Amino acid sequence: MSEELNFKPHLTGVLGHPVSENPTVVMQEAAFNDKGLNWRYITMEVLPDDLKSAIDGLRALNFDGINLTIPHKVAVMEYLDEIDKSALLIGAVNTVHNKNNKLIGYNTDGQGFTLSLMKNDVDIKGKKFTVLGAGGAAKAIAVECALMGLKEIVIINRDSVKGKSLAKKIKENTKTVAKFIKWEGTAKIDKDTDVLVNATSIGLFPDKNKPDIDYDFITKDKIICDVIPNPPLTEFLKTAESRGAKTFDGLGMLVNQGLIGFEIWTGEDANEIIMTNALKSVFEK
Ligand code: NDP
Repeated sequence: MSEELNFKPHLTGVLGHPVSENPTVVMQEAAFNDKGLNWRYITMEVLPDDLKSAIDGLRALNFDGINLTIPHKVAVMEYLDEIDKSALLIGAVNTVHNKNNKLIGYNTDGQGFTLSLMKNDVDIKGKKFTVLGAGGAAKAIAVECALMGLKEIVIINRDSVKGKSLAKKIKENTKTVAKFIKWEGTAKIDKDTDVLVNATSIGLFPDKNKPDIDYDFITKDKIICDVIPNPPLTEFLKTAESRGAKTFDGLGMLVNQGLIGFEIWTGEDANEIIMTNALKSVFEK
């Protein structure tokens, strides 16, 4: 047998429950193929009680890396060897790298968001953000932006406990000014907000609603972002576009977090257009 033959692929994938509708495999395998890499991405159903065994299994099977999705992003942290600074502050890990038999946890959700903005010359430093929501996506975005030198952040959420806790986390661990406003009825957005982010699950397919806010806030000098990847053009972003604002969609955030994961695992840059088209083809079905 020629020494060049190698039938053993590098292994990556995602652990979740439920996980069968997670489309990341399509995006990552398109990127592996594009680069001619013998890497695979496997979608794996793992029940909460089996998470420890699954992580032990990944070590035994020499997986190169893994993504975590609902409900494992927080629980996985106790089984890892090291956790990156921002993932530790966010309190959740969505990407693990097996580096020389050490499992290192990262959170690329917020970094995918900041990368989308930075690629379009939006400087986060010194800006004021208002974030709708205080769940996993909101936390990741708030922490990454604060670590990048955000001036001020306003968290608006229905659940006060979650909202207050996120504002407190930002205040105590970064230099960003943070305040919480309870979401009751139609939310008013501070006029001096530069960037408004919908980090709730409102608008995720098949939901066609948009957040209950005073849309008069949106003018053409504002930047409006949505975390919802499917559909990319949500009712929220449609309204923002019709008011002339610059918009960023959740598909871009999702692709960029995948790009960061790809780089962490393979050490190579992935092709953003290939990954975006792969995901769009799934969402259009
Ligand atoms: P969580 O369940 O952790 O948080 C959901 C948030 O949405 C909570 O703050 C919740 O408020 C709020 N919310 C839900 N429904 C309403 C409503 N009707 N009115 C007001 N607030 C509402 O979810 P995640 O943060 O993990 O995910 C949120 C969305 O982000 C999902 O749709 C997911 O697809 C998307 N996402 C996108 C990513 C990307 O890369 N594009 C990455 C990660 C997530 P309350 O606390 O009051 O219940």
